[in-house]
Amino acid sequence: ASAHVVVVGGGFGGATAARYLRQFAPQIKVTLVEPAERFYTCPFSNLYLAGLRSWDSIGHSYDGLRKAGVNVVQASAEAVDGAARKVKLSNGQTLSYDKLVLSPGIDMRWNALEGYDEAAAQLAPHAWKAGAQTQLLKKQLEAMPDGGKFVMVIPANPFRCPPGPYERAAMVAHYFKQHKPKSKILLLDDKDAFSKQALFLQGYKALYGDMIEWVKQSDDGKVGRVDAKQREVETTFGTRHQADVLNVIPPQKAGFIADRAGVTDASGWVPVKAESFESRQVPNIYVLGDATIAAPMPKSGFAANTQGKVAAAAIAAELTGQALPTAAYANTCYSLIGNDYGISVAGVYRAQEGKLIEVANSGGVSPIDGNAAFRKAEADYGSAWYQAISADIWD
Ligand code: FAD
Repeated sequence: ASAHVVVVGGGFGGATAARYLRQFAPQIKVTLVEPAERFYTCPFSNLYLAGLRSWDSIGHSYDGLRKAGVNVVQASAEAVDGAARKVKLSNGQTLSYDKLVLSPGIDMRWNALEGYDEAAAQLAPHAWKAGAQTQLLKKQLEAMPDGGKFVMVIPANPFRCPPGPYERAAMVAHYFKQHKPKSKILLLDDKDAFSKQALFLQGYKALYGDMIEWVKQSDDGKVGRVDAKQREVETTFGTRHQADVLNVIPPQKAGFIADRAGVTDASGWVPVKAESFESRQVPNIYVLGDATIAAPMPKSGFAANTQGKVAAAAIAAELTGQALPTAAYANTCYSLIGNDYGISVAGVYRAQEGKLIEVANSGGVSPIDGNAAFRKAEADYGSAWYQAISADIWD
């Protein structure tokens, strides 16, 4: 019988691995397990909040993967037996595999931040998984009166999408500037520094004046308690802030199936081999994307996509008796600050003595003195990137 690879999770990492496995070794049978019928991307969900993108434009079906010969099963994986190489699904099916790929993304650490549990997220959305949470946040922003206050609670590292909260602040400011110009945005951060910081702060000022205030951790930015009903937060220094719309991005961990497969360590994330993204703890299980410990690579969709290609190549090589190809990884994260104002950070990575390292002089951030034409070009590159990666993975 032909070899069988089961992929759990049809997001950035998993759908890439499924598709590229079919391309690299068409004789391998590939089954993708994903509960959603359509995948809505976190990338560009901030543009949806801004009113710059429709909801439909960030949704993708699995028809493209089906056409590529992937067997798509609409279910969730509930248990993994790594010794017997079996996965149990929510529909009662049990799948046997030669190799298993897990790309489950993140789960929230409920109650890690006092008062913030699943029920609280219905009142103060995280919107850190694209879907009903994102739509709820948009409705709340639309219902907010002019002159209201939008408060965002931002976690310490590591978390999904390091520049994501700061892009969201800018996109909400874009919406406010047009519809509710007297409103304010307060960012309460559990960090003293963040991705593309100088570029973001420069862009905020240039486009939104003093609408956005960022409070770093050591200036009383760390929130210790959330009261979602009152839309109030309290910092660890005891300062209380009242919000009209409260967006709490809580601490995170690998999606639960990683835990059940025995591939997470005490940190809640998954250690992987740098050359293939195979688990360091359980053989024949490959883990991709946000769930992994891949620093210096960030938890981004772009990173998950290149990891998916490397893992697919490694699996195809092993199942067809070929040598492991040399791994190379890349990432670019574009962020939009205004409609014609984009910035980016890029990096190239490889495996060296079992570790992931950033290739010297390979990447960097946008120039701080970039002119308007430069910022406009990067905004355009960002939307071209979205179209290209969507076509590469799903469309
Ligand atoms: P995901 O893409 O989240 O996919 C996980 C999938 O697994 C989901 O479809 C889920 O339903 C499924 N799943 C989970 N558990 C199971 C199970 N037990 N059984 C079956 N299926 C399961 N990245 C960028 O590169 N560029 C950006 O501009 C960008 N912007 C962002 C903006 C925001 C607001 C946020 C929150 C994130 C952004 N990101 C961006 C980060 C990006 O969304 C993630 O890094 C990326 O989604 C990670 O891919 P993944 O495969 O690990 O997880």
